[in-house]
Amino acid sequence: MRHCLLGLLLCLFCNTNFANSEIIEDQIIAETILKNLFNAYGSFVYPIPPKIEIVHEKKRVAAFVADRQSGKIILEKAAIDVCRSFGKDYESALAFIIGHELGHFFDRENNKGFATNYLKWTHTQKEEEKADIWGVFCAYLAEYKTVSIVPNLIEALYQEYNLMEKKDELYGYPTFKVRQEVAQNVQEQVEELIHIFDTANLLNAMGKYESAAASYKYILQFYQGREIYNNLGVNYALEAINFTKKNVDRYLYPFEIDINTRIKKPKLDRGGEDLTEKEQAYRMQMLQEAKKYLAIAGKMDYNYLSDDINIMSVLALMMDLCKTCENPVAYYEKQELLKVANFIGASNQQKAQLQLALALAYAKTGKKEAAKKIWDSLKNHSSTEIKYQATFNLAALKADYSTSFIKIYDCPSINLDLPKDGVTPHRVEIKEGFTLDSLDNTQLEIRQLDNSILTIFEDQEGEIFMLQNWPINQPLTIDLNQTDKYQLVAHSQGFYLLCMDASSIYSVNSDGFIKAIAQFHESF
Ligand SMILES: [Zn+2]
Repeated sequence: MRHCLLGLLLCLFCNTNFANSEIIEDQIIAETILKNLFNAYGSFVYPIPPKIEIVHEKKRVAAFVADRQSGKIILEKAAIDVCRSFGKDYESALAFIIGHELGHFFDRENNKGFATNYLKWTHTQKEEEKADIWGVFCAYLAEYKTVSIVPNLIEALYQEYNLMEKKDELYGYPTFKVRQEVAQNVQEQVEELIHIFDTANLLNAMGKYESAAASYKYILQFYQGREIYNNLGVNYALEAINFTKKNVDRYLYPFEIDINTRIKKPKLDRGGEDLTEKEQAYRMQMLQEAKKYLAIAGKMDYNYLSDDINIMSVLALMMDLCKTCENPVAYYEKQELLKVANFIGASNQQKAQLQLALALAYAKTGKKEAAKKIWDSLKNHSSTEIKYQATFNLAALKADYSTSFIKIYDCPSINLDLPKDGVTPHRVEIKEGFTLDSLDNTQLEIRQLDNSILTIFEDQEGEIFMLQNWPINQPLTIDLNQTDKYQLVAHSQGFYLLCMDASSIYSVNSDGFIKAIAQFHESF
């Protein structure tokens, strides 16, 4: 997509003055990168992104100048040309510089109205490092390959600006040595964050919601994007539904990914047990956490309906435990969600999801006829997911649990000879871990082995759970035309293929290649 844009631009400007056309092209590319980073962060608390201004100066690389509205990011042509020298990584390099200044834009508390200067640190070293980490991680989520080029880019910039030999740190200009140390540190930190983020998504797909939530929470210390808050909220809600083997929830909720596990649990009204008081308290705590983080995500983007759909579902779940809690139907009316859906031009799928959430809200507040009407209208929907939920919930409303709803998935047979790297699961313990989540004192250690990465979690009871992850690059050999046979969970760049019988999960990209395989082990 980006390359097409570049080709089109080159052609458009091939007959005009080259220098001028290059500036126009730089401007368009820089604005596109800014837009991509802004959207990846997903916060519209400051709805107008800063402007981009390219200048023919050579003194600061880049700067962010705040004003009453949104301010501007100044980019020096010399710095852009350094990025150009990175060839295919040109945009990823530019994303680093723009990302750093955008980090200052969002960090309003530490940035009260003065101009920053990329070469001269205008904030403390810690804050500058924070802006680097923010920018590189945001670039990763916007699909730029920035993380691997940071130290080389810093070196190329210092060379171009003749700063390699500068020895003193007068007036806030860090030396090359200091800047290079920071770049190394930033690279390591972001690589760790990316690993934790990818692991959190895997854990989420596998149904390890508590560990997934702890991982997303850790990321929030460095990067407060809307997607992270939303994932965190959804994981707490899923933990509330799934933490026990008891199945107390009659209906399916829009955010449920792994329907299979829950359907296999005995239902409360079919011989299942009720929750104990302690379990009820834990469930309520998880739902409150879910609501808290979903509300933050919702405030970041008023035009994003998913958070509201998820909040309504959480409120519906709360109704069993708390009669005085906010009524989900009242929430729907107060937030005027139907109006919002029309106003933002929501897709049919999103509107149907909103209807599903409303039906749940009706069902949980005693308006069963209204719920039935909605589910009836959605039971022949073109989306399999919507159709499935509507049909399932209609049956649940009538307390008609047909076994035909139980899906049993095949475990794909993929022959991979994975080197064990000396891991004996029951002997593993944390040696050099760090606290992932202080709420439940989850400890984490990431160990780089010869062929794999071992990620070890330990909770406050000392229970150990680990994931061993092998990066591979192999075409998927099973027939995906029979999707119903396999359990698939979508992720941002493809899908996961779950094979819970063999404790394995395959990460498949959109080109149909297995990019990684993870195996998990529990040792009690
Ligand atoms: Zn800065």
